[in-house]
Amino acid sequence: MVEVANRPKNCIICDGPTGSREHVFPSALGGRREDKKIYCKNHNEWMGSHVGVLQRQLEAINAMLEVQPDRGTVKSHIFEAEKGERYAIKGANIAPAPDLDAILDSYTLNEPQQLRIAPSDLPRLKERAKQRGLKLDVLDKATPAVEFRVGPYTIPLMQGGDDAMRAVAYLALTFVAHFWPHVARAPGLAAIKDMLRSGSLYAGADSIGVPLPASEFMAWSPAIDEPPEVIHPTGLGHTIIICVRAGQVLAYLSLLDLQCWMIRLGDAAPDTADRTVVVHVDPLKTRYGDDWTINKFDHALIDGCVDQDYLGKAVLESGQMQQQITAVIGRVIDRRDRLEAESAKHEFDAAHRLLSPEREAAIGDFVALRRQRLVNHISMFAQHGNEATQMGALVRLGAIKATQPDPTSTDGLNDAARRVLNHVAAEITNTLSKVPPGYVLDPEFYQLLFGDMAQALIAGALAEELHR
Ligand SMILES: [Zn+2]
Repeated sequence: MVEVANRPKNCIICDGPTGSREHVFPSALGGRREDKKIYCKNHNEWMGSHVGVLQRQLEAINAMLEVQPDRGTVKSHIFEAEKGERYAIKGANIAPAPDLDAILDSYTLNEPQQLRIAPSDLPRLKERAKQRGLKLDVLDKATPAVEFRVGPYTIPLMQGGDDAMRAVAYLALTFVAHFWPHVARAPGLAAIKDMLRSGSLYAGADSIGVPLPASEFMAWSPAIDEPPEVIHPTGLGHTIIICVRAGQVLAYLSLLDLQCWMIRLGDAAPDTADRTVVVHVDPLKTRYGDDWTINKFDHALIDGCVDQDYLGKAVLESGQMQQQITAVIGRVIDRRDRLEAESAKHEFDAAHRLLSPEREAAIGDFVALRRQRLVNHISMFAQHGNEATQMGALVRLGAIKATQPDPTSTDGLNDAARRVLNHVAAEITNTLSKVPPGYVLDPEFYQLLFGDMAQALIAGALAEELHR
């Protein structure tokens, strides 16, 4: 797999002794493999400074997928929506993420005050207060009020840019060094190494002052989908292709298909034979060994050519980029829904085993926990209602009425929305209460119940609202 015999041990940047454990693919993005023979201690750390930008750009998707970093725990992604409200996203959960400093700023010292914060945010608030030299005492706790989120929000997804390009080039070089140690040390790769020692993120003492543009080595690329071995087996990971073609060292990197890059690293030593390695990284596998799929070819699989107008014209005109992102998000959401339906099965089973009347109450709680999902359908009808039919137009008008803000509301809903929600939750509770003993809540039925069936019930109730 790796050229073990006579494997060089000098740093590929400075020739110094190697030995620090380098993640071949970054730990924060779900990489599990380490290699001790690529960089010296300094260059491991300094080159690693390029990776932060990719971590930020992929953070939202990683949080939705709950990617477990090799070191540390799954991180929430905190983002600001259109009106400045902050949310934290992790797995299937999106919850308001209060600005702790703003809350502490609004306080008057030594005076008891009301605080509206989720109990789960309280430890962080106390910790933040402590850091600021304050002491926060909780005098009294009230049952947390349920607050629904009405209306859509957009998670900003910034991708690419000069710093991200350097990070991608660094990953490509590291893969070349891992699989082909001699190729990575060829003098023809000096220019890209110089480029990597420049840029706003490079924290090395040997930084090159005037940055060499990363765009001279790489370009945004369409996703590669042939031969079949290059297609990621789960569609929820990263693909790295390294290739020698006629003495040229090339690479292709797809990060979740959100970013795809073609990189020209430079020239290998003369008479280096053509070859290709395709690696699929599965960030959802947490065990070293399961996380990579490797395919090797004794010919060149990529040619390094990218249409320079790719981003400028073709992508924008065809909507291809948008389609690519929509497809990735679709796969992420499918997986999230599957996992959610699986865990709902166990939860429902526990409720259903109880004796009446505890069972009815527990099933009511089971549905109540999922009310935000139902509210989302109301928001969806208000935004994307189908006005082509008379019924569709009525539903949309009803949804617009039900999403009007009510300043006196304490749960985020107006009266119309609350009526629709209560009606639909009662219908679903009723359906679930009638299932026979030993019933297993099939994940597909769960998705139908809270998806299409819930939508049909909500549509009917929204149309009714117009008559009130
Ligand atoms: Zn070094």
